[in-house]
Amino acid sequence: MDMPDEVDRNIAALPQLLSSLSPDDRRRFERIFQVDVSTSTFRAPAAMHAWMMEHFGSEESVQSQTVVKVTNLITLEGALYNKLRARRPMDSRVAVDLADRIAAKLGDTFCRPLECTPEDLFGRVWGKHCVTASNLAKADGYHGLVIFDEHNPLTFDSEMVKDYIDTGLAWARLAHCEDREACNFLFLWNCLWRSGSSIVHGHAQVLLGKGIHYAPVEHLRRAALLYRIGHGVSYFDDLCKVHTSLGLVQNYRRIRVLSYLTPAKEKEVLLIAPRLDDDLKLAIFRVLRCLLDRLSVCSFNLAIYMKPIDSSQQGWQGFPVVVRIVDRGDVNTETSDIGAMELYGAPVISSDPFEVARALASSFAD
Ligand SMILES: [Zn+2]
Repeated sequence: MDMPDEVDRNIAALPQLLSSLSPDDRRRFERIFQVDVSTSTFRAPAAMHAWMMEHFGSEESVQSQTVVKVTNLITLEGALYNKLRARRPMDSRVAVDLADRIAAKLGDTFCRPLECTPEDLFGRVWGKHCVTASNLAKADGYHGLVIFDEHNPLTFDSEMVKDYIDTGLAWARLAHCEDREACNFLFLWNCLWRSGSSIVHGHAQVLLGKGIHYAPVEHLRRAALLYRIGHGVSYFDDLCKVHTSLGLVQNYRRIRVLSYLTPAKEKEVLLIAPRLDDDLKLAIFRVLRCLLDRLSVCSFNLAIYMKPIDSSQQGWQGFPVVVRIVDRGDVNTETSDIGAMELYGAPVISSDPFEVARALASSFAD
């Protein structure tokens, strides 16, 4: 969709961008999102002026700050955007060479998975580039690991990513054969320490839960179901259309790649697809490479949401595969990216989804 040239596409310009949408697009946007803009000012003592110039470039940029609050009215996710937050002085930066820090862990337990990790009662699943293990400290009844052959978690190609996911799915099928009640699959990839990963060596986690699906997946299903009841159309289709109308979607075959307007944290990308096929695995690879190579991401969380395996449960019709990938910040910073605001308020975001969309457009154009 063509956007008017006169409006610079960035999150601070969201209100102007909305006024340039067609009436249909505008109505659809307002069905899903609400935007509230606040400007903030303060008076700084003269002694701070030089310091502010040094850290923020100009006094004006600090003294008149715009915060754009975006709320997803359907899922009740929210985000507060203020680019200036990225330029906050951080006292806790530690200079570390990432490659050295990863290499220093060579020979860790995941380099020797057969000796150092337990296996499930149904055995291990061998991929071309990985092998599964049973997780020692379970988060659920079935909780496994997909341990990559490659130690460095940032070194992967499209074949490896495809193989990690295929191996996770094969593990889920074996677990499901062992216990038919276990049918809620979750594939998770925490990359490097910022993401909560306790082991540097590349690995993903796989879970297969019983009963109700994992709460965020169930929450999304219910929100989408209520949307269909209320509006007679698919929430996921409308979510993609809204993002498309703003230039925040890349189309890759049947997959929609969204620079999401209410991200969990920095640079969150959603992939929405009819099924977990090879196209989606390749799109996941492209998004990861884009984040790592173009947007300086080193540490990330990835999750794959999908409907229950073999399920006779009602209410999952039209639920797509949703992949969420989020940046967890600078690996050289000790300050956590997640505080009370993120846990109990709303995520404060300094990255711009329009910049993420431009990077994704370059990656998917290659
Ligand atoms: Zn290793």
